[in-house]
Amino acid sequence: MKTNEKTETLTTWVEVDLAQLRKNLKALERMSKRPVMAVVKANAYGHGLIEIAQAAYAAGMGWAGVARLEEALTLRRGCYNGKILVLGYTPPEAAMLATLEEVSLCVFDLATAKAYDKQARAAGKTLSVHVKIDSGMGRLGLLPEEGKAFVKHLSGLKNLQVEGLFTHFARADEPELNTTGQQLERFHAVVNELEQIGLRPEWVHAANSGGTLGFKEAYYDMVRPGIAMYGLNPSDKALVPKSIKPILSWKTRLVSVKDLPEGHGIGYGHRHVLEKPAKVGVLAVGYADGFRRVSGNVVLIGGERVAVVGSVCMDQCMVRLDDMPNAKIGDEVVLLGSQGREAITADEIAVRWGTINNDVVATLAPRMPRVYLNG
Ligand SMILES: *Cc1c(COP(=O)(O)O)cnc(C)c1O
Repeated sequence: MKTNEKTETLTTWVEVDLAQLRKNLKALERMSKRPVMAVVKANAYGHGLIEIAQAAYAAGMGWAGVARLEEALTLRRGCYNGKILVLGYTPPEAAMLATLEEVSLCVFDLATAKAYDKQARAAGKTLSVHVKIDSGMGRLGLLPEEGKAFVKHLSGLKNLQVEGLFTHFARADEPELNTTGQQLERFHAVVNELEQIGLRPEWVHAANSGGTLGFKEAYYDMVRPGIAMYGLNPSDKALVPKSIKPILSWKTRLVSVKDLPEGHGIGYGHRHVLEKPAKVGVLAVGYADGFRRVSGNVVLIGGERVAVVGSVCMDQCMVRLDDMPNAKIGDEVVLLGSQGREAITADEIAVRWGTINNDVVATLAPRMPRVYLNG
């Protein structure tokens, strides 16, 4: 099926190129020579949780990383059979479900780990856990000096299996190398201690996208790139190689085109008033889709850059079509992606919105259909 056959009934949607996703994942795999955990938290950074996880699994990525157990359960309901690690906190009350669904949990607190063990015992099974070390992120995890004793303790809990040990970098996407170097040193000390007492877990992992692109010493047994698998740069100082490309486009349509007289106000609060008679278009996209309510938004219509005017509404926004005599109802509008010779990148939008590219794509609302190309 061609794209337009899949999208002709839609007003506002997100297109994802699965062939390019596979290329991105393979490139990360070749670069690191390690298994790649596809990080699919937050609806796969807006790209669609189940479809992205399934495509990554089909391309040979054995692991999926999510932030919460709810996301893991959604994957299991979507018939995802790969290994899943919950990277964030899981309440002990949910540990039985995690055990039964064979989802691995992150642990960094002894009381919680003991409660997990009890739940797993009640389920009559073993729960796999990955011990999180805070080597410098200041977020989840045990301090490195607590790591060895903690893992020793867990090895005494009959229904927990310490399957992994991991840490997360705070500054791996920056030219400043000291912090990541220090984090690696601290983490490595824990890995060494565990090796010496024969308790090194099977899966030791540390590298996010920044780590995968810039720090070979961080590869261990697996890498965990998120933003890079979606083809986006971890930062303007940590760029993905040329073979890795964005896989997402965001599109809507012109749903109204009309001429309005000089002095006419546009939208809530009349934040824009026509200084001359003008052709004004309405787009079927608003802040509830993730199109931020800021001034200065730009879209592509007929291959040209067009300014959004007035306040962005919940489901719609307005554009000036001053030099676009051919613009008509139904025309495709690109919010992110390319049209003709023009392109709007997630990085460009991030600058406009005062944020980072992750935030631009991860907040694309679930109500917009995702259309998968080259599946
Ligand atoms: C989000 C996340 C990742 C992926 O991070 P990117 O910077 O998008 O590559 C890896 N590990 C953990 C623990 C995370 O929370």
